[in-house]
Amino acid sequence: MYYNLIKTPALIKTGNHTLQNIDLHLQQSHLFYPSKILVTQKNLYEIYKNHIDYNEFEQILFYNGGEVCESQDLIKSIKDSDSLIVAFGGGSILDLVKYAASKCDLPYITVPSTLSNDAIYSCVARLTQNGKKRSFGVQPPTGIIVDLEIIRKSPKELLLAGVGDLITNLSAIQDWKLAHKNIKEPINELALMLAKEAAIGLFSYSSEDLYTDDFLMDLTNGLISSGLSMIISGNTRGTSGSEHLISHAIDEYFNDKSTIHGIQAAWAFLKIEEQIRKNPVFTDKLSNFYKKIGLNTIIDKCIKWEDDDFHSLIPYAKKIRPRYTIFNTISAESTH
Ligand SMILES: [Zn+2]
Repeated sequence: MYYNLIKTPALIKTGNHTLQNIDLHLQQSHLFYPSKILVTQKNLYEIYKNHIDYNEFEQILFYNGGEVCESQDLIKSIKDSDSLIVAFGGGSILDLVKYAASKCDLPYITVPSTLSNDAIYSCVARLTQNGKKRSFGVQPPTGIIVDLEIIRKSPKELLLAGVGDLITNLSAIQDWKLAHKNIKEPINELALMLAKEAAIGLFSYSSEDLYTDDFLMDLTNGLISSGLSMIISGNTRGTSGSEHLISHAIDEYFNDKSTIHGIQAAWAFLKIEEQIRKNPVFTDKLSNFYKKIGLNTIIDKCIKWEDDDFHSLIPYAKKIRPRYTIFNTISAESTH
């Protein structure tokens, strides 16, 4: 019998007041380090310093996050230490730490301040380099600590972006299956199953549930399962398909019209279902879910593209990376 060796997180803690108990949770998971360095944003530290200061940090470093250029300074500050790096913040701080800690081969944990995308646990960091968003392969975190009290204070549109990023797994896995069928691309069934299960649990929720412990726990677990899916398959096939290509194309070629990642990907997913995949039962199910959870209102507010513009984005999406998706099955003429 053979088994896969998978890097799974040594610590997952989701609950209330977990930020003030980071030291305790590490200890309970038998994770001991000579010292710890916290990386966060100054304003976030000011808001939560009473919680943070319950823990012992050798250093607290402040960055804005999101930019590759900041990583040089961070790498310089951490490379000779023997520390666990603790990233506390939104996706931009988490991605900066993922990138810098991986470059130094240092362990790190993520403590997200919101759940806007699957950055909380993944092997990819999205950072801006020379004005463009780029994806970088990184080591996954050793652990994830989610403080629901903090997540509950994050703006509704960021939580809905997390819902958007997670629900789009259901688009990505359709593309993965299609690539398997048409070009024999291998499928990792465990990774596909995790990506799918992570997303389908969302359908039972509506907008009134957004700030409940049950929903936030499921969203957290779903985003972590998505991360595991990527780590198991060694790629982002279960979490990033044609809809992510559209989102990345907007960031790459139409930066002035780009918005929050999960919202953009969710919008593209619905357009792909409505205009390309055209399965009426599933399209209705998805569209009703967007209405029920409130994604449609946020999409109306944030997306600056008309329904008719959608097809004009496809040629740009196909330039993003050589990934076989539903877009490979439509002729060039039909995308104009
Ligand atoms: Zn995503």
